[in-house]
Amino acid sequence: MKGGLEALVEQASRGHSRALGRLVSLVENGSGELREVMRLTAPLAGNARVVGLTGAPGVGKSTLTAALVRAWRSVGLRVGVLAVDPTSPFSGGALLGDRVRMQDHATDSGVFIRSMASRGHLGGLSWAAPQALRILDAAGFDVIAVETVGVGQAEVEIASLADSTLVIVAPGLGDSVQAAKAGILEIADIFVVNKADRPGAQEVVRDLRTMLAMAGPGTGWKPPIVTTTAATGEGIADLADRLDQHWAWLGDSGELGRRRLARAREEISAIAIAQVRVRLGGLPGESCLDDLASRVVTGGLDLYSAADQLLAAAPAGT
Ligand code: GDP
Repeated sequence: MKGGLEALVEQASRGHSRALGRLVSLVENGSGELREVMRLTAPLAGNARVVGLTGAPGVGKSTLTAALVRAWRSVGLRVGVLAVDPTSPFSGGALLGDRVRMQDHATDSGVFIRSMASRGHLGGLSWAAPQALRILDAAGFDVIAVETVGVGQAEVEIASLADSTLVIVAPGLGDSVQAAKAGILEIADIFVVNKADRPGAQEVVRDLRTMLAMAGPGTGWKPPIVTTTAATGEGIADLADRLDQHWAWLGDSGELGRRRLARAREEISAIAIAQVRVRLGGLPGESCLDDLASRVVTGGLDLYSAADQLLAAAPAGT
C-alpha cells in the first residue's frame, strides 16, 4: 500500500484540490515531510507557465488576477493562483481579498486558489513560495499566477520566481511610478496600468514611458505598457496576448532556460542555507557560539576564524 504522502501527491496530481491544499500547508508549516514531497513531485514539475503579478496594495492585483483567470479558463487552461504576502509573515491569511474576488472561480475544478504566509519559520517566504509553486506545477496546472504585495526586497525575490512578471501600477495612489521604481524596473516584463477608467491613467503611462526610455539596454525584450480596466475586463485580452508573446520570446531566446536555472540555483541555496541555520542552532547548547562570541569581543579571536570553528562544530546531515 502506498504511503500517505505518496497517495496525497497522486491525488493532487489528479487535480484533487483538498490534497493540494494539504500539501501547500506542509510548506507553510515548514514540515519535515517536505523533503519527501519534493522528491515525489520532482518528476512531475516543470510544465507550468508561471506569471507573477506585483504592485502596491490597491492597484487591482486581485481583480486583475481574477480577470486573467477568466481569460485563461475561456481557452481551456487549468489555472493555479498563489497569493503570497512577504510583508506580514504572521498574518496567516495573506491577501484574503483575493478569495472574495475569486468567488466566481470557487466552484471551477480547473482553478485552484491559495493564499499563504510564511508563519515566520527559518527560511521565510523565499524558501516557502518556490516549494508551493513546485507543488502546484506538479499538479498539472497550465498556468500559475503568483500574486505578491508591495515593492520590497522579499517581494522582488518572490517575483523572480515567475517566467513572466507583471508590474502593476494605477493612478490615484500617490506617485505609483516612483514607488514602482524601487528595484522593480528590472523585474518587469510587462507594465500594466490598471484603473484606466480613472483620471490620471494616461499620465501614469507617460511617466512609465519616460522611465523606460532612460533605462539601459536589457535582455532584448522591451517591456510593453498595457492599460487595463480590470473591473470591467477591458484590456485583459490584450494583456493575455502580450503574455503569450512574452512566453514565445522566452522560449525562442533561450531566456526561459536561463531563468529557470537561476531560479533552481536560488531554491537550492535557500534550502541549504536554512539547513545550515538549523544545524548551527542545533549545536549542543549554545555554549559553543557564546564562547566564540566572548572570545571575539575580547579580541582573542577574529570573526572568520570564529565562523570556521562554528561550522566545524556543526553536526553534518539532517
Ligand atoms: P489589490 O490590493 O492590488 O489586490 O487590489 P484589488 O484588486 O483588491 O482592488 C482594489 C480596489 O480597486 C477594489 O475596490 C477594486 O474593485 C478596485 N479596482 C480594481 N480594478 C479596477 C479598475 O480597473 N477600475 C477601477 N475604477 N477600480 C478598480
